[in-house]
Amino acid sequence: MKIGIDVGGSHIGLGIIDSNKNLFFKQEKDYDICKADMSRIVLETIIKLMNKSLKDKQISIQEIESIGIAFPGTVTNGIVVKAENLGIENFKIVEELKKDFNVPIYLENDAKCAAIAEKKHGSLKKYDDAIFLIIGTGVGGAAFLNGKLLKPKRYSGFEVGHMVIQKDGKECNCGRKGCFETYASMKRLKEKIKTEFNLESTDGKQIRQFIIENKDNSILNKILDDYIDYLYIGITNLINIFEPEAISIGGSFAYYKEELLKRLENKLYEKEELYNKENTPKIVLAELKNDAGIIGSTMLDNKILDK
Ligand SMILES: [Zn+2]
Repeated sequence: MKIGIDVGGSHIGLGIIDSNKNLFFKQEKDYDICKADMSRIVLETIIKLMNKSLKDKQISIQEIESIGIAFPGTVTNGIVVKAENLGIENFKIVEELKKDFNVPIYLENDAKCAAIAEKKHGSLKKYDDAIFLIIGTGVGGAAFLNGKLLKPKRYSGFEVGHMVIQKDGKECNCGRKGCFETYASMKRLKEKIKTEFNLESTDGKQIRQFIIENKDNSILNKILDDYIDYLYIGITNLINIFEPEAISIGGSFAYYKEELLKRLENKLYEKEELYNKENTPKIVLAELKNDAGIIGSTMLDNKILDK
């Protein structure tokens, strides 16, 4: 058995897979974001979740082959170098967890984990050259060329969310201005809709319902079109660089097939701004949804990273 842990912006998910790679158990736990000492809060939440899950399923730690962690930030050699959206820096998460759970522990960027899972078991199975984007609180991703995950030696790389698409644009958590994710994250889109229409919250279900009910509202349509315009700029940049056969989009974006994906496809297939206008890549939605990070993190110990 292997354990996969997906650290999200407001909750942590834990899954256990059996030797047939079936995810047979899943549990989640919310945590409070208070920027002071977030690394301690994340660590304590993981330890509680681990202990509770093992107890619930009556599994001892000796039966666990490995633990994988998908983390929303820059990671290297078991250390979270920085996770801007959580206010975490230089967090030796693997070393800390080893004190309580003495099994091999692997750490990777969350978007990379989800991408690995989608490539092996989900929406990107059929494609050798592919890009995976996770569009939610921020924008992250991964690229595969000839079936191999692009993986730099030092850090996770492929920080597409911090590719600048607007000079002197909106300020990003990373310190730069005009980053892709300050325009194309679902968080920014939801916040914009909430502010414009005085909605109570940015809850995904409520926002989606609002979009469906107000599909003829011109102000709302302008917000959605602007959002798609920026998303399109980022995605065409990636297409021109990587020439993927397919782009898979996960994160909360994946729940807006009619409202957002259709608009993006319409714009993309006009092809005006693509450098190569033939063979426009397919845009597909992630299939593993919320489980992708967990499943991908259980695959960090094998050779999927090399092939
Ligand atoms: Zn940035």
